[in-house]
Amino acid sequence: MAEMTPIIETLMADLFGPLPRQGPGNAASTRKAFSLLGPLPGWPTVLDIGCGTGAQTMELAKLTPGHIIALDVFDWALDGLSRKVVDAGLVGRVHTTKQSMDAMDFREETFDLIWSEGALYIMGFGEALKACRRLLKPDGYLAASELCWFTDDPPDEAQEFFEAGYPDMKTVEDNVRLIAGCGYELLGHFHLPGRAWWDAYYTPMSKLLPSLRARYADSPDALAMLDDTDLEMAIHRKYAKHYGYQFFVCRRG
Ligand code: SAH
Repeated sequence: MAEMTPIIETLMADLFGPLPRQGPGNAASTRKAFSLLGPLPGWPTVLDIGCGTGAQTMELAKLTPGHIIALDVFDWALDGLSRKVVDAGLVGRVHTTKQSMDAMDFREETFDLIWSEGALYIMGFGEALKACRRLLKPDGYLAASELCWFTDDPPDEAQEFFEAGYPDMKTVEDNVRLIAGCGYELLGHFHLPGRAWWDAYYTPMSKLLPSLRARYADSPDALAMLDDTDLEMAIHRKYAKHYGYQFFVCRRG
């Protein structure tokens, strides 16, 4: 990924900020994962890691009457979510916090439920499983979508692409073993459907690209990042059978 210079940070806000989501996902998948959880307390305390502008946070707020803390590192993401929270009259129940997922500042055993869609790869799924376990109450739940290989021997071109972006990407089976090894009971898991990549993510993103290329025409770094984005979509068009997001729903063991 391009180095986070000021221009790249601005481009990220311009590229991802206007999208309905900042990664693959959809409301039906959020609801399906939620339905796989066991019983929660009446007003659970929930953490949403890498919330972006909060598509899944707002869905979670419909699914549970609890308090939700939504965590991200970027102001544009947290501000986007805050606007939705105000519009929905949820100010007392959904809170944002600017923190990095690899240095989260909460007491151990704080949360009944930790949620994360399309984000834990940033710190690596294994490290994230350990960090979340410490923050979950005994019998608390973790529901997270994670980028996985769907085959043991993916095509070279796809492997080379992810070697740069997520070299530690594992197969679904390896992640199932990792989850057990990190002290969780797996309650269920499923693939995100193909349209969860396009409807609220790649399709609106591809519509934004021409105007961003024009706006950032003087910045080779920004243009390189837009080229990477095009390549990522081309790889997905070609190899969607071989990798994707798997939603894992687990209970702290
Ligand atoms: N869950 C959202 C966003 C997924 S994209 C959705 O599905 O739409 C990944 C998110 O992680 C982005 O919003 C990005 O800003 C955030 N992020 C990147 N690095 C982070 C870090 N170190 N700590 C917390 N969040 C981070």
